[in-house]
Amino acid sequence: MSSVNELPPRHLLHHEPPIFELGSPGRSGASLPSLDVPAADPRDDWGSLARAEAPGLPELSEVDVTRHFTRLSRWNYAIDIGMYPLGSCTMKYNPKINEAAARIPGFAGLHVYQPESTLQGALELMWQLERMLCEIVGFPRATLQPAAGAHGELAGLMMIRAAHADRGRHPTKILIPDSAHGTNPASCTLNGFDAVTLPTGADGVLDVDAVRAALSSDTAGIMITNPSTLGVFEENIADIAELVHSVGGFVYMDGANLNALLGKFRPGDAGVDVMHINLHKTFTTPHGGGGPGAGPVAVAAALEPFLPRPTVEKRGDRFTLEYDRPKSVGRLRSFFGNWGMFVRAYTYIRELGGEGLTRATELAVLNANYLRARLEHEYPVACTRRSMHEVVFSDKRLKKETGVQTLDIAKRLIDHGYHPPTVYFPLIVPGALMIEPTETESPETLDQFADALLAIAEEARRDPERVKSAPHSTGLRRLDETRAARKPRLRWRPAGTE
Ligand SMILES: *Cc1c(COP(=O)(O)O)cnc(C)c1O
Repeated sequence: MSSVNELPPRHLLHHEPPIFELGSPGRSGASLPSLDVPAADPRDDWGSLARAEAPGLPELSEVDVTRHFTRLSRWNYAIDIGMYPLGSCTMKYNPKINEAAARIPGFAGLHVYQPESTLQGALELMWQLERMLCEIVGFPRATLQPAAGAHGELAGLMMIRAAHADRGRHPTKILIPDSAHGTNPASCTLNGFDAVTLPTGADGVLDVDAVRAALSSDTAGIMITNPSTLGVFEENIADIAELVHSVGGFVYMDGANLNALLGKFRPGDAGVDVMHINLHKTFTTPHGGGGPGAGPVAVAAALEPFLPRPTVEKRGDRFTLEYDRPKSVGRLRSFFGNWGMFVRAYTYIRELGGEGLTRATELAVLNANYLRARLEHEYPVACTRRSMHEVVFSDKRLKKETGVQTLDIAKRLIDHGYHPPTVYFPLIVPGALMIEPTETESPETLDQFADALLAIAEEARRDPERVKSAPHSTGLRRLDETRAARKPRLRWRPAGTE
């Protein structure tokens, strides 16, 4: 095990003023030829709409702009730099062939107002992607419109509400396990439903009897994440679906963890009625930093009439946007959705094929269980059941023996050159460290990462204060994360002039 103290710092000092504080009036990155027509005053044409003064933009040379943004980019941790162990996020590598496909001029240069007859290739790609996703998850139809998983949840619940209303029913409650992602109850509230919390069973899976006890004629449906955020397969999902259907409710599956299921389990075959798919998680379109994502939603036949419009239809050998859908919940996204994500996901699915996708799932599960086997003796696992694509450790043992906690471990990992994992989620595991290596990491990378976590445990026993004061290799140490979010300081002041 290497000692982190000997590692060179991998992060640059965080001293870079905002671009508005750089440069000097009159500097420019462009060299335009001198004017060969009479100069015009924009106010002659535009009157008061034209600005009298310069807009106050920063004035810099090309080299200063390039260096500013390149320096900033080097502060960032990125999937192209190293492993990104964030659990629940499926931060897998984004293959560069996806980018090449998305940049094909015929795709990249499309205009949203082009006539349909000139969009045939784009519509065909959307139509094909919908078919491929539906085959993977076992549903007849899907919409590609939602811009992310949470937006997909909104779409799915809108369809559930519309389907109930179509039958003259107005149930108000959605059952949600206590291990759910925060977006699930938020989507319920946005849709005017009340979220009813279901306790996770002692063995980490949803208990059929607990669901039965919570059901009533006021149950609109249930939202189940499968595998759950504990990284465990909800093996009772088919029985639960039958129960929920028996009171007229619908089953929504949060498909953010689909990376664990490709080629192994099709939610549509288990009685699920509607699910979202995060293309930016399972299908290698880039994410982080707020998007763009894409959260297609697949539906069973009962919900098909309520799909957002327009849908993409094939008529003969032509592809067309269908707006005439009287029961549709309406449009959820301007134009076509995050189109570039569709090209990337389509490319990935075509590149791997069914066998490749199945293998990706097998390796994702293997990698998570490999880390579990290497780390479990220092970092107890929250759930004794076999892990799927991610594993939830806890700080229970180290905290008791050394006082070192999850946040300290996460910060010390930065010194070892890794992005910290997801911490303190799911909420039902005290001191959770949620790790999802994904299938794209090699055994060597997994070993290095496990070594770093074991080195931190060893250091916690030898020198706990060193771990508690991490990170040591960054320009800034422990930030007040709440204040940084609520009261961001956007002007740069040199260190020591607070
Ligand atoms: C990521 C995630 C979501 C939300 O998806 P976004 O694409 O980030 O909106 C919902 N549920 C679970 C379990 C997730 O991991």
